[in-house]
Amino acid sequence: MYPLAWTAHRAAATNPLAFRAVCMRGRANHDAPHRTCGCGWYALKAAAQVLPWIHLRQRMGALPSLRRIAIGRVALWGRVIEHAEGYRAEFAYPACLYVPSRALIRPLGERYGVEVYPLHLLRPALIAAG
Ligand SMILES: [Zn+2]
Repeated sequence: MYPLAWTAHRAAATNPLAFRAVCMRGRANHDAPHRTCGCGWYALKAAAQVLPWIHLRQRMGALPSLRRIAIGRVALWGRVIEHAEGYRAEFAYPACLYVPSRALIRPLGERYGVEVYPLHLLRPALIAAG
């Protein structure tokens, strides 16, 4: 959702809070996620929701094409708020990633310590709609 680099897994050894969400609102005085705010790490509940969600944000100009983004499964922990279609969490980390370029598989796998696959291996319906 945001153009930021996730902290590499090695950082957790020296900073266990490296994967903690922070509220980006200027004067917020609460831990993320907060019930009355929109902060926290976001995750959708179902893979079928991914492409509609991406397309909506692309129409809003908030996301680039599928050739420039990674899609993945994430682990959430800490304080987690459930919503109708997904979750907002205090902590999150990728469980696996799907990337648009084979050149990204090895470097991202090493950086994040997770399995990384080519994007085309996602369910055909997921890709066909994209
Ligand atoms: Zn907040």
